[in-house]
Amino acid sequence: MTTRTPQRTSRRKRPVRRLFTRLFGIVIVIGIILGAALLSYRPFAGSGGEAQGDLPIYLGGARTVSLAEVQDKLAALDWVKQVLLPVNDYSRPGTALEEINNIVVHYVGNPGTTAAQNRSYFSRLADSGETLASSNFLIGMEGEILECVPINEVAYCSNWRNEDTISIECCHPGESGEFTNDTYDSLVRLTSWLCNELGLDSSDVIRHYDVTGKECPKYYVEHENAWEVFKSDVQEALDVIQALPAPEQKGAAD
Ligand SMILES: [Zn+2]
Repeated sequence: MTTRTPQRTSRRKRPVRRLFTRLFGIVIVIGIILGAALLSYRPFAGSGGEAQGDLPIYLGGARTVSLAEVQDKLAALDWVKQVLLPVNDYSRPGTALEEINNIVVHYVGNPGTTAAQNRSYFSRLADSGETLASSNFLIGMEGEILECVPINEVAYCSNWRNEDTISIECCHPGESGEFTNDTYDSLVRLTSWLCNELGLDSSDVIRHYDVTGKECPKYYVEHENAWEVFKSDVQEALDVIQALPAPEQKGAAD
């Protein structure tokens, strides 16, 4: 008699344990299924391949433009010299840009060097591999504009913003980093042209300093007012472009 009670008690406990074991097993299985589903989930998986193509699409305001088309138009300008770097790991990775949200202005930081010399430096990196560096454009002290990396490709210039910006490096005669008048005029011309084509305005033009806090372009970090004047000059030039009669504008849309 005395042994029955414990036996009954243990028999009653077993089904409860089994129930817990089963419930635990079910929870584990559901967890594994949910985990697998989450891991395999890829938003926009269907269109991912297209977005990586050669013709990235930029949505600027009411317009949709292909960056590759803007690049073609740029290549036809007689005031921009095409001296594209060879595709290489150190200065032109050949990575497609999918959007451009800002134009970043830099100074070369090497007083008295020409645009051609700076372009050669980028080019030599392909062999020396000493660092990663380049910019989409270089503007020389006589106002010459060199395009080194197409605007629809990543250049190594603005740190973590390389993926969605265009970079323009400017030469300068002295340590102060101030641009010559010719450099300045070309910078305004190029920047306003790009803003118009890409649906940007002068508020989208920033300094390397605004990305990382680096003193670049030096003169326009030390002289905030000169930077503001530059931006208003860009906006003024942009307003002139946008006020042009429709036929002249039409090239941009076509
Ligand atoms: Zn810089």
